[in-house]
Amino acid sequence: MSDRKTALVVSAHAADFVWRCGGAIALHQDKGVEVTIVCLSFGERGESARLWKQEGATLETVKAVRRGEAEKAAEALGAHDLICFDLGDYPLTLDEAAKHRLVDVLRAVQPAFILTHSKYDPYNTDHMATMAFTMEARMIAQAWGHNPGEKVLGAPQMYLFEPHQTEQMGWVPSLFLDITPVWEKKRAAIECMEGQHHLWTYYTNVAENRGNHFRRNSGGQAGGRDCKYAEGFQAVFPRCVDELQ
Ligand SMILES: [Zn+2]
Repeated sequence: MSDRKTALVVSAHAADFVWRCGGAIALHQDKGVEVTIVCLSFGERGESARLWKQEGATLETVKAVRRGEAEKAAEALGAHDLICFDLGDYPLTLDEAAKHRLVDVLRAVQPAFILTHSKYDPYNTDHMATMAFTMEARMIAQAWGHNPGEKVLGAPQMYLFEPHQTEQMGWVPSLFLDITPVWEKKRAAIECMEGQHHLWTYYTNVAENRGNHFRRNSGGQAGGRDCKYAEGFQAVFPRCVDELQ
């Protein structure tokens, strides 16, 4: 099983993994990479306004709907596994137990790369807390003195996916990923998010615009690659390469 390749997504709320890296999940699954998704919460309080407007809504009914949507979306993307921590949202409760649970997942999954939120997000502190939380869990999972005897984590790259209202987040893409081959899967996952209809068109537009940037940065009309839909990511760590290209 040494050639088994894996990846881990850490999503603050149930829908973030769909809007921000659904294409990356579907694409890598198609390439044989097992992608595990951790949802720290269901976004039940802060990202479910449409559900709260329904008669008789309670925290439990909203959570159940959001869990169902996340499961359907993960299935539409072909994700290997979906793990829901159910930590509550707005704000997330990121305590020691939750941190060590994520460390255990990191060591069990041994991801080749990690996808998570941007470093800064003044609109949504859950998002930036998730990035810091994931970075700290990664560090602990690398420590030989933490639960000695377990397989320690290597040095997986962290890719920060595109936040909402991008320009205000200090997020700058360092790569664009062509998700055209799996766009239909991402769109199907987007349409699982019944609680957030207002974002379906928005995130389709984002993918189209990033497709345009992919074409431009790959050479444009002077021989660039065609690309209809893309996702942007910001790498945290240097990439180790044998030659520049
Ligand atoms: Zn969110």
